[in-house]
Amino acid sequence: MSCLRTLNWDLLAEYWSGELDEHREPFIEEHLMGCGLCSASLESLVETAEGIRTLARRGDLRVVLTREFLARLEKEGLSIRQYSPKAGSSVECTITPQDDMLMARLAADLSAYTRVDTVFCDASGVERGRAADIPFRAAKTEVVLNEPASAARKFGHDVMIIKLVGVGAQGEQVVGEYRFNHSPSPA
Ligand SMILES: [Zn+2]
Repeated sequence: MSCLRTLNWDLLAEYWSGELDEHREPFIEEHLMGCGLCSASLESLVETAEGIRTLARRGDLRVVLTREFLARLEKEGLSIRQYSPKAGSSVECTITPQDDMLMARLAADLSAYTRVDTVFCDASGVERGRAADIPFRAAKTEVVLNEPASAARKFGHDVMIIKLVGVGAQGEQVVGEYRFNHSPSPA
């Protein structure tokens, strides 16, 4: 099998989540019908999406999603609790037994960077974990972050600080800092 006009992952994701321009859709569909390679990639993308749902329900996955992907998950009937604190601010958060997923939506202007890391810190700002080189698709964007639900259900009154860090020639720069004051579910 060979393909001269490989559909890239972004395009396939757009197609799958239904966000593709209408006039581009027939071209994609036609290509997929005739191309085993690209339809295999679409299949693995969907499997990944299914996989993400399964993992999200089990709650093992900390992952960066697109806004469209999030919308798709909601359309599939998942109950998603979301928090969108502004950069530099904090939010009171929780997770209830009714929630399938827990998300942080972090708006930021990433236009100055080609690489962005997500840094997870404790209440005193000490780095506890990092997702390096996260995918982001637009300069002025929202980083949609899934927090593993099963882990979040075990949180007490905990504070987590998430930083979006731009990495460039001049080193690291904090683009946004978001503080999550977690309380256990009241239920
Ligand atoms: Zn192809």
